[in-house]
Amino acid sequence: MNKKRIALIAHDKKKDDMVELASEFGDLLRQCNLLATGTTGKRLAQEVGLNVERKLSGPFGGDLQIGAELAEGKIDCVIFLRDPMTPQPHEPDINALVRACDVHDIPCATNVATARLLLQQLVPHHPAHGHSHK
Ligand code: PGA
Repeated sequence: MNKKRIALIAHDKKKDDMVELASEFGDLLRQCNLLATGTTGKRLAQEVGLNVERKLSGPFGGDLQIGAELAEGKIDCVIFLRDPMTPQPHEPDINALVRACDVHDIPCATNVATARLLLQQLVPHHPAHGHSHK
């Protein structure tokens, strides 16, 4: 099976959530090719020990870099923990990335609950019809 290529992006107030989520799904994420915006990637590498290809920081074009790769078919899934309460200087870039996901029909989770559902789906051999009653 080809390794999934997953993009990880979190706005500042969502970075702790991203670190927690990535720790929870560390076993899965270590089996994937990961890319991230600059600061998110740095934290994932330092605090979770993940091997992450780091793009520019979001406000400096990182979202656009990820969007461009996505448009070229190089990304399988996006976890984009956006901060809905804080205006972002790179709002147009954020919208461009989410739009690119919709254009190319690539799964894009923008909150932790959806991200969990998406990542659980990627865990190999997870039981489709939970026969275990644990
Ligand atoms: P960052 O970028 O990971 O470099 O902080 C994320 C963003 O704010 O778009």
